Amino acid sequence: MYLEIPKAVSIILHTLNEAGHEAYAVGGCVRDAMLGRTPEDWDITTSAQPQQVKELFRRTVDTGIQHGTVTVLIQDGGYEVTTYRIDGSYEDGRHPTQVSFTSLLSEDLRRRDFTINAMAYHPEEGLIDLYGGQQDLANRIIRAVGVPEERFQEDALRIMRAIRFAAQLNFDIEPDTFQAIRKFAERLELISRERIQVEMTKLLKSAHPEKFRLFYETGITAILFPEFDEMMTMPQNNPYHCYSVGEHTLHTMMAVEADPILRWTALLHDVGKVRTRSTDENGIDHFYGHGKESSEMARTFLRSLKFDNETIDAVKILTRYHDYHFDMTAAGLRKAIHKVGEDYFPLLLKIIYADTMAKSDYAKERLLPSYEKVCALYEESLAAQDCVSLKTLAVKGKDLIDAGVKPGPQMGEILNQMLERVLDDPNLNTKEALLALLPIWLYKGRQGYHSKPFQYLCYAFYPA
Ligand code: ATP
Ligand code: MG
Repeated sequence: MYLEIPKAVSIILHTLNEAGHEAYAVGGCVRDAMLGRTPEDWDITTSAQPQQVKELFRRTVDTGIQHGTVTVLIQDGGYEVTTYRIDGSYEDGRHPTQVSFTSLLSEDLRRRDFTINAMAYHPEEGLIDLYGGQQDLANRIIRAVGVPEERFQEDALRIMRAIRFAAQLNFDIEPDTFQAIRKFAERLELISRERIQVEMTKLLKSAHPEKFRLFYETGITAILFPEFDEMMTMPQNNPYHCYSVGEHTLHTMMAVEADPILRWTALLHDVGKVRTRSTDENGIDHFYGHGKESSEMARTFLRSLKFDNETIDAVKILTRYHDYHFDMTAAGLRKAIHKVGEDYFPLLLKIIYADTMAKSDYAKERLLPSYEKVCALYEESLAAQDCVSLKTLAVKGKDLIDAGVKPGPQMGEILNQMLERVLDDPNLNTKEALLALLPIWLYKGRQGYHSKPFQYLCYAFYPA
């Protein structure tokens, strides 16, 4: 077996070898190189002690020196070089709480999680595969090294990793490994929410997000995300649907591009259906208000996984408006963009498309033409560089002050009212036209708020 390895890795291996130490590329990089995938990073395992590694290379960083890891900086990259070790229990899922070094490569490989991750490679010696990793790669199988139950008991994060690798590689989980995952799924309670977030995101943005189904089948969602189990068993007796809520969700994830925000939105867009289902006298299911419910449930779930606010906000908005009913006019579309937010709108279109593609043929026939129309209106609006937010409104706060408006909350209100007029009629987006309207709002400000007819009367007196 010959694998192409980066020049820097080969320099590191040979430098260690010349000093009398064993050294191999190991783990994920060997797996990925064998699969013809580009490894994210190249890890090296060696018989040398961390101190010895540091003495051999000019530039190093003590990345995890107590666990035996030194990063060697060479050419433009950093490479983790770790001393052969036997692990105690893992707590954060990356670094075991206690480790001891060993002089045997076989022991270092035995501590690794899956057979496909437990192979080492050296350009002269070739592949070192003590646990049948090569065969499992060929058969596309995730199999724990050693006794699966023991391995998941040692470190429950491996449960998430198994399923995440199955999704990234489109592999199956070997039956004993699968049963052990089921048995120890509850131990995920011990794993930090951040680590769970990372693994779920890796799965969702993989080539096979539908493998999320494995979380359900192994009892993981029952613990981490019980609403998903309800989704999987909730039928949708409605001509627009051909799947349960859960299957529809998996199909939506498959139909949207591999971007974390889009995939998380796809996962959560219909979660609110479990709380909003009603069945009418004809036996048809409805889910009134599920978008709003989904966005609230999405926020709660993402918060529990310690997501950043930016992601939470994006998923909240996109779930909230995924079933938006568009007014199919140019002005209607500008208002929709304003409501959803300029930056989110193109993402919303992708979600709407994926959601539609995961529905029945009946639904596709009816919904795709309107989707196309919305896209066409959106293209036109982009081409016209329509103003859909205060960012591009021709009048700024300073212009109002120059025109004699007192700084204060009234200024924001006036700007928003100007924007509303511009959403209706983009031609109004000039300083002159908008400032000509100013007296109306100043007058209204003195008089308090007026009814719509009064406002129209004012517009009549102050034509644009
Ligand atoms: P990726 O980098 O794509 O997430 P990887 O296999 O390289 O995949 P890393 O987390 O970078 O995963 O870990 C590198 C190697 O360390 C793995 O291939 C595996 O051999 C070992 N390893 C990582 N985490 C664990 C764990 N929780 N239990 C046992 N071995 C692990
Ligand atoms: Mg890696």
